[in-house]
Amino acid sequence: MAGEEIKAYIFDLDGVIYRGDELQPSAAETIQTLRSQGRKVYFLTNNSTQSRRQYSDKLTRLGIPTEPHEVMTSAYATALYLKERKSTDGRAYVVGECGLKEELRESGICIAESLNGRKIDFVVVGLDRQFDYQKLYDAQQAIFGGAEFVATNCDPTYPLEGGTLSPGGGSMVSAVATASGVKPFVVGKPHTYSLEIIMSLAEAKPEETVIIGDRLDTDIWVGKRAGTHTVLVLTGVTTEEEAYNAPDEMKPERIIYSLRELLQ
Ligand SMILES: [Mg+2]
Repeated sequence: MAGEEIKAYIFDLDGVIYRGDELQPSAAETIQTLRSQGRKVYFLTNNSTQSRRQYSDKLTRLGIPTEPHEVMTSAYATALYLKERKSTDGRAYVVGECGLKEELRESGICIAESLNGRKIDFVVVGLDRQFDYQKLYDAQQAIFGGAEFVATNCDPTYPLEGGTLSPGGGSMVSAVATASGVKPFVVGKPHTYSLEIIMSLAEAKPEETVIIGDRLDTDIWVGKRAGTHTVLVLTGVTTEEEAYNAPDEMKPERIIYSLRELLQ
């Protein structure tokens, strides 16, 4: 992977740019250098809890000035997907947080706070830190009633400050899949839907694009499936041993210990 051939750098967020509110060492300077070289920088996260605006605000606050259009989230990609599926008057029951609901509403999706016997077109499930039995029940009933089951992502965990892991959106998706007996359509990585949208925004071909992530089964796998270059950084959920023993379809082209190495 020769640096001069790369037009677009796509960074995962959790475990790559930061852990919780802790910026990774060298993230800000690496991105500043890439931008000064004229590379296009985008951020692609499976975490659906916040909107693009909230992520760009957070990145800017942490020292990486970012505009909402430089961020792609599984929440926004889900909104685009639902619009593709049903152009007007789509009604969704959502297991997820305010960022996901904000993106869906802004895209014209009507959100049903409860079922109340109304027809639901989609059950959308993402990370929800107030997940409970009632939400599981409502999601199950809506799917039984014919709603399409759409998952923002299936990450089992996500990394936080101090090296800890918390349950990810995939934990809620599994609960709804078990209760309903239906497998979801998964919008986020490793599905290539959101990555392909970014490549078209950047006007970059797969061979001119690199994705940098900390998870083999999302970040690296989506890059391999889309034909981009792939770099695994060992600052998130994947250990060195797991990285070097990755199955072929998830083997990164390059493994780095710090984002600074991207500049070498
Ligand atoms: Mg990550």
